[in-house]
Amino acid sequence: MHDYRETSPLRTCRLTALCAICVVALLGAGCGAEDDADSASTTPAGKARLSVGTTVAPITSIAANIGGDRVQITGIVPEGTNSHTFEPKPSVAELLSTIDVLFTNGLKLEEPTRDLAEANLKSGAEIVELGTKSIPESEYAYDFSFPESGGKPNPHLWTDPKYALKYAAVIRDELVERDGDDAAYFKANYDKFKAKVDEFDKAMRTSFATIPRAKRKLLTYHDAYAYFAKDYGWDIIGAIQVSDFEDPTPKEVAGLIDQVKETRVPAIFGSEVFPSPVLEQIGKEASVKYVDVLRDDDLPGAPGEPEHSWLGLMHFDYVTMTEAMGGDASALKAFKPGDVAPDEAEYPQ
Ligand SMILES: [Zn+2]
Repeated sequence: MHDYRETSPLRTCRLTALCAICVVALLGAGCGAEDDADSASTTPAGKARLSVGTTVAPITSIAANIGGDRVQITGIVPEGTNSHTFEPKPSVAELLSTIDVLFTNGLKLEEPTRDLAEANLKSGAEIVELGTKSIPESEYAYDFSFPESGGKPNPHLWTDPKYALKYAAVIRDELVERDGDDAAYFKANYDKFKAKVDEFDKAMRTSFATIPRAKRKLLTYHDAYAYFAKDYGWDIIGAIQVSDFEDPTPKEVAGLIDQVKETRVPAIFGSEVFPSPVLEQIGKEASVKYVDVLRDDDLPGAPGEPEHSWLGLMHFDYVTMTEAMGGDASALKAFKPGDVAPDEAEYPQ
């Protein structure tokens, strides 16, 4: 289990206390640990680094691309868990009481974390809902997994690069406001990030264009691509996962099998976070490939590796989709995902 105290000021306090003892013991002979702790927690201007909390890993990665090594970022939702039902442990309150800003997705994705933050944030700290700031309510998507009657819109804006860039701009503006000394650094990181995302967008469009428009149809288990589909010319023909995260009824499954046969898609997609025997059964009975590796918030690779990033995640998904649908993914494969600034964020696993 991840221990948030690893990165909290408590550790710094313990180090400082230890240093005080060592300074006394050595009669002012110095204590290297104190210097290390200081340089790790201050900006080049000598101020304490902003302490930033984030929820899901893609948001943590986007924040790291903008904040780089000038802010201290701690993710809250462990990778590979169901972020839609995630409830933070009471111990997360300790982290929330120390941060300056909490970046969440919003669109009702992280209500329990939001509630805990509201009860524990220190004075002057705030919650910034990136998704909510990036799309007007009139453009919220409601669908099979996220019906309007349930009151929760589809929250997966970040699988669409257009919105991920908006998230990055909101993060940039928030960091600039709170740490003006590093404004030029955050702005330069955003510009580099935007250039890279624009390049990725081009590669996506080139690769998708190799799949006839009529064949760009997605049946996924987890309904994470609604906004992406609209912007990149794909049709979502359905999602298996219903709003309460239960399996669909046998009647619904039979309907989906018919639909897959009718649309003659070459592949249907499952999620690596939500193994689905139902989707496997649909694939078998409709005689189409079942590709069960898509992911929407669990970054590929391990922290520190270039593919362990929002861009790495999107790259993996869209290469997978293109190839499974019989397209040519070489433009996407020529693109190298990675970060534009050092990613020193904590990703709970
Ligand atoms: Zn999701």
